[in-house]
Amino acid sequence: MSDALIARVERWAREIPDAPAYTFLDYSAGHDGVKHTLSWAKADLKARALAVRLREVTLPGDRAAILAPQGLEYVVAMLGAMYARVVAVPLFAPDLPGHADRLIRAYADADPVCVLTTTPALDSVHAFLDGGYAPRPKQVITLDTVSDLLADEWEPEPIGLGDLAYLQYTSGSTRAPAGVEISHANFTANAEQLWEAFRATPRVSTAALWLPLFHDMGLIATIAAPMVGGNQAVFMDPVAFVMHPVRWLRMLSEYDDVFTGGPNFAYEYAAGRVTEAEKATLDLSGVSVMLNGAEPLRGSTIDRFSEAFAVCGLRPEAHTPGYGLAEATVFVTVMDRDLPARVTLFDRDALTAGRAVPYTGEGRVSDLVSCGVPTGQRVAIVSESGTAKPDGEVGEIWVQGPNVARAYWRDGERSAEVFGNVLDGEDGTWLRTGDLGVVHEGELYITGRIKDLIIVDGRNHYPQDVEVTVQEADQAVRRDHVAAFAVPGEETERLVVVAERSRRADGRDLAEVTANIRAAVAKNHDLRLHDFVLTEAGAVPRTSSGKIARRACVRAYLDGAFGPRTAGPRDAGV
Ligand code: ATP
Ligand code: MG
Repeated sequence: MSDALIARVERWAREIPDAPAYTFLDYSAGHDGVKHTLSWAKADLKARALAVRLREVTLPGDRAAILAPQGLEYVVAMLGAMYARVVAVPLFAPDLPGHADRLIRAYADADPVCVLTTTPALDSVHAFLDGGYAPRPKQVITLDTVSDLLADEWEPEPIGLGDLAYLQYTSGSTRAPAGVEISHANFTANAEQLWEAFRATPRVSTAALWLPLFHDMGLIATIAAPMVGGNQAVFMDPVAFVMHPVRWLRMLSEYDDVFTGGPNFAYEYAAGRVTEAEKATLDLSGVSVMLNGAEPLRGSTIDRFSEAFAVCGLRPEAHTPGYGLAEATVFVTVMDRDLPARVTLFDRDALTAGRAVPYTGEGRVSDLVSCGVPTGQRVAIVSESGTAKPDGEVGEIWVQGPNVARAYWRDGERSAEVFGNVLDGEDGTWLRTGDLGVVHEGELYITGRIKDLIIVDGRNHYPQDVEVTVQEADQAVRRDHVAAFAVPGEETERLVVVAERSRRADGRDLAEVTANIRAAVAKNHDLRLHDFVLTEAGAVPRTSSGKIARRACVRAYLDGAFGPRTAGPRDAGV
């Protein structure tokens, strides 16, 4: 790796000026979506123009917060900030419903000198800045009004690989989002690792996504990956996907050798929503990689999705499980792109005791999906005392590589804890991910987050396993809208489950639903359910990237947000 990845935009502008770089499929402009494309020449031109504009109000190293909606302007904001050596802070427009708190915290933490937005989002930006939550920026720039004519004034500057490219705020699943310092070296390394693992073909493969650009996976897969080999990215707004998931698959149908990705819930959601008539219009035979990562994977979802879309020519090998986190830029391990997803059955009781033992047909079973192997970086499984564990033993996942960030923004103490770890007998520092996992037959399986573990009577239970049991136990529960967590108890932690009601809950007797769930949890996990709450749709807190925010759910539960707990423990007498 020699040059910063961002320098390649200028190279593609010279070598393949008219080739499409970024295409936004705009569904707000019409039901069938309207395509807006930036060629490599246009992307470079707009980045230079924005760099000139940015330099009027900022110095290298200043932060520019992107408070813009999904679209080409967002991409230009990232590129222009990198050209100008200004640290981008990819956030979102304040009119994105439901995430004001996250925006305020990340914005205030990043302490930006300047805001980049668009004319349609400007009113919401002013309302946000007038709210007095954070210091005013020196300048608000509307990206769509920056004149292309400024581009000629730009004098290219060398980009230092050690310079900060942007601050990636984590999803906030377990805490207030933390700003990870992503350098140009990290950005370059991770995009190359991703494209290498996927074996993408320069100038041929297309990335097609709907993931938000402020999320690590959306940002690297959509904005960075095409830079590696002069490829094209096609993308849409996450809301367009949520409203009509078939749009995602239609977008994939249009290209050959196409790469896409999403979290497990998106596959579950799309498999359940796309009708047979819609499937008849899809051709998914050109899909090379469907990355499934960012949250726990389920074998049942992969099967369901693959079966649902086999009629559209989707190859089962296309489904590609992966693992990553913002602290490693995003991408860490991935399954080989041409192998089918591997689901391994383990003995659940052994797993809760920290060992991965293949299921022999007796006792309880846990199925885990392999997340494959790292590319261009190293993964170790580490004990609580900081020593490497052998294959087959569950421990914390540590990562080392050129894509691992060096620190959290302005948080030296936490940075040292997370990024400055030393492993016996190994050179260099390692990232502690806070995730538990195990290497089995050379491949990484993620078992869960340390912070989310439910520890009852000395045994570790993973919330996602309990959540699956709950949603399968009774149809009154809305799939993928369930949170299982522990609350403090007298002698040991206690299990609580909050679940949203499905449409089938109408007219059901809550006592009967609760009894079904209690019985299933006892049978599958040998666990007593202390409290079960069936709440209205939308009540289980999620992050801005759609993950279940279990910590926020615990707080809401303890604060009584799901109703008074005056009746005492609901499992009294069971
Ligand atoms: P925060 O750190 O603010 O609590 P977050 O960890 O969800 O939020 P991200 O960096 O966006 O923020 O997500 C990375 C995390 O997502 C990983 O640390 C892991 O817990 C989870 N994750 C990612 N891929 C997988 C996977 N394949 N299986 C299980 N969990 C995964
Ligand atoms: Mg995290």
